[in-house]
Amino acid sequence: MVGGSCDGCSVAVTGGTHPRVEHLLAGIIPGLPRVELVHTVVSTESGPEWVHNLFMAERGELDAPYVITWEGSIMDESVAAATGGYWMGLGDDPQTGRQISSLEWLDRLAPGAAAIIAIGTCATWGGIPSAKGNVTNSMGMMDYLGKDYRSSFGVPVVNIPGCSPIGDNYLEAASATLLFLNGLGPLPEFDELGRPAWLFGETVHRHCPRAGYYEEGVFAEEYGDKECLVELGCWGPVVQCNIAERGIVDGHGGCMNV
Ligand code: SF4
Ligand code: SF4
Repeated sequence: MVGGSCDGCSVAVTGGTHPRVEHLLAGIIPGLPRVELVHTVVSTESGPEWVHNLFMAERGELDAPYVITWEGSIMDESVAAATGGYWMGLGDDPQTGRQISSLEWLDRLAPGAAAIIAIGTCATWGGIPSAKGNVTNSMGMMDYLGKDYRSSFGVPVVNIPGCSPIGDNYLEAASATLLFLNGLGPLPEFDELGRPAWLFGETVHRHCPRAGYYEEGVFAEEYGDKECLVELGCWGPVVQCNIAERGIVDGHGGCMNV
C-alpha cells in the first residue's frame, strides 16, 4: 500500500536477490508460506477487482493472514479534507462511489494485519514530505500508529529505512517475519527504532571501502573523487546502515561505491 511515495522502494525490492520476490511468490523457500502479492503497480488486477482484495481482508474473508507493506509518507488526510480533497486515493466505495484514501485503508486494515512493514525513509521517518514546511503533516508509520502498536500476531511495526532502501534488507526482514508468522521461527529482533537489529547495528563508516582514505586523512574535494566523502557531507560515521557491505543491488552500488 502507498502513501506519499515515488515507487522507488518497490523498484528497489524488485532488484532484491536474497531471496527474490519471485521466490516468495512461488512459495519455494522451505518454511515460508507462498505469498500472494496485491500491489498498486505490479498486480494484474486493477480498479474494483483490485480494491476487492482490501474489502475481503477487512471482512476477514481471505483464507490466510495478510501483511501490509507500506511505502511512502503517511500524509494527514484531515488537512486535505479541509478543502474537499485528498492526498492519496486507493479505490472507491462501490456503494457510494466515495473515494477511499490510503490512510483510511490503513486505519481499517491495521488492527487485523498479521504484520505491518514500513519500507523506505518516507514510510519509516516521514521522509522528504515531512521536512521543514510539511504542509501535508506527513509522518512515519510508527509516529502514526504509535510505538506500542502490535499486529494481530504481536509484531511491532517493522521499519526498513533507506532512500531508496536496500531491496535485500526488505526481503530478508519480510522473510524472517513470515517465518515467525508461520510458527517456524522466533520473533525477529528489532532495535529501539523498529529496525531489524542484525541489519542496522553498525555504522556505514565501519565497513566503508573508503575508510582507508579517512584513516590517512585524504578527502574528496568534489563529487566523482575516489577518496573519503566526509568533507562533502557524508554522515557515514553516525548513520547505521549496511549499504557498504550489502550494496544497493546484488552486492553492487551504494552511495560510497559509485
Ligand atoms: S523512501 Fe525514497 S524511494 Fe522510497 S518512496 Fe520515499 S523517496 Fe521514494
Ligand atoms: S565516505 Fe563516509 S562512511 Fe566512508 S570513510 Fe568517509 S566518512 Fe566514513
